[in-house]
Order: sequence, then structure tokens, then C-alpha cells
Amino acid sequence: MAKSKTKRKTNRAAVFLGVVVVLGLMLGVMIQLTLAANEQRQRWQAGERLARAMSATAVQTLEARHKLEEESVRAAKLALTGQPDARTALRAQEQPELLILVNPWNALPEDYDPQLQQVGREFGTDYMMDLRCADKLEQMIADCREGGGHPWICSAYRTQKNQQDLFDNKVLRVILEGNSAEEAPDIAATAVARPGTSEHQLGMAVDIIDEYYAILDEGQEETATQNWLMENCWRYGFILRYPNGTTDITGIIYEPWHYRYVGERYAKEITDLGVTLEEYLQMRRGR
Ligand SMILES: [Zn+2]
Repeated sequence: MAKSKTKRKTNRAAVFLGVVVVLGLMLGVMIQLTLAANEQRQRWQAGERLARAMSATAVQTLEARHKLEEESVRAAKLALTGQPDARTALRAQEQPELLILVNPWNALPEDYDPQLQQVGREFGTDYMMDLRCADKLEQMIADCREGGGHPWICSAYRTQKNQQDLFDNKVLRVILEGNSAEEAPDIAATAVARPGTSEHQLGMAVDIIDEYYAILDEGQEETATQNWLMENCWRYGFILRYPNGTTDITGIIYEPWHYRYVGERYAKEITDLGVTLEEYLQMRRGR
């Protein structure tokens, strides 16, 4: 019996040990599971945080994009309603009235009545110019002096009577030079425009001479004044109106002293193209 008692004791111990081992194993598994779950949860939480952060960024990006879109829509609307676009701005720069052509074949409109402005006395004696270019003329003369020239205005705006007197005077001189009274007006007209056909009557033409060379002949082109003016006049909206070798086109002799205002835009184009006003107008008509 004692043997049997001992055997039972051994059996119980074995069962106990077994239970302990099983419990231990279960505990181990549970710990593992808990750890894994924890890790999973942590990973989850990190993922969630990341996702939340990402969605916040996405929302911000989206908001920013909307704002940009709204702004560009507003800008586009503004451009459509109030602000002129580039083409309109370019068209606004067009001032074809500044290109008015007055030459032997195109008389001044009879009702032409320019708005005039006195030109500074320090630049000449009592001269008037169209008020669209009087200030620019003064600036050009002042800058020419700065640039080493000695410009002096010897003619600007002329009334019909001024032009008539000048023309009659020229006819007389031509006759005194030995020409017949019959042919004298035609000869005179190549140097002094017939009344009604002079650009000076526009108020947009000016004769500028060098103070140290006060003669209206081709020698003017050699002076520091004309060198500077021919080079820079376009910057102020003026062109040398009767360049050398263009008498057939302009009807007027070479006059390296007569400048005509056409505005900066056209003056630059005409200068770049190297053409006369007559040719430029022809080109514009062909465009
Ligand atoms: Zn002139």
C-alpha cells in the first residue's frame, strides 16, 4: 500500500508540475500576445497620427489651392472688366493724329486749330508749340546742351500769315537771284512751303540751329548740335523730317535742322526703319 501511496504522491507532483508548465506556457503566450497587441496598437496609433497629419497637410494644400484659384479668378475678372489687356494698352498708345501729314500735296485742314504753349525763352525767342510736345522740345534742347550741343530754336509754330510772309519773301529772293517771276514760286516752294502746306502751321515742327553756325544750309549737319539731335531726337518723339536724299518723297530739300514731333512710339519706329513720314504712312496703310 505504501508503494501505491508513494506512486499517487509522484503522480500528483507530476500533475502539479504539468499544470505549472502549462500555466507557464499559457502565461508566456499571453505575454507574447499582449506585447504583440501592444506593438500593433502602437503601430496603429503611429499610423493614425501619420494619417491625421497627412490629411491636415492635404487640407491645407487644398485650401491654399482654392485660395490661389480664387485669386486668379478674381484677377482674370479684373482683367476682363477694369484692367486693359496688353493689346488694349498697345492700341491706347496709338495716336494716329500725331502722324498728320502736311506736305506739298497735303494741305493743312482749313479748320486746323492747334492748342499752343509757349516755349521757354532760354531756348529761343517767343516761340509756340503744340502743347503735346512743347515740354518735350524743351527737355530735348536742355539735354542737347548737357550733351555738348548749342541748340537754338529759330522757328516753331507759324500762323497762315507768318507762312505767307515767309513764302512771299522767298519768292522775291528767288527772283532777285535771276529767276523769272513765273517760275519763282515753284523754286521757292522747295525751300519754303506754300502757305497751308507747312508743317510749322501744325505747331509740331521746329527748326533748331547751332548757335555757332546760324546758317540754314547743309553745313548744319556737321555741328555738335545736329549730331546730338539726329542721334537722340526720337527719344523725345521727334524725327528729322527731311533727311538727305529724300526730296522726291517729301517735296522739300534736305533740312538738317527741321524736326517734326510724332510722339515717342512713332518716332522710334520711323527711326528704326530709316524712312520718311510719307513712307511710314504708306507702310502703315499696307499693314
Ligand atoms: Zn522748318
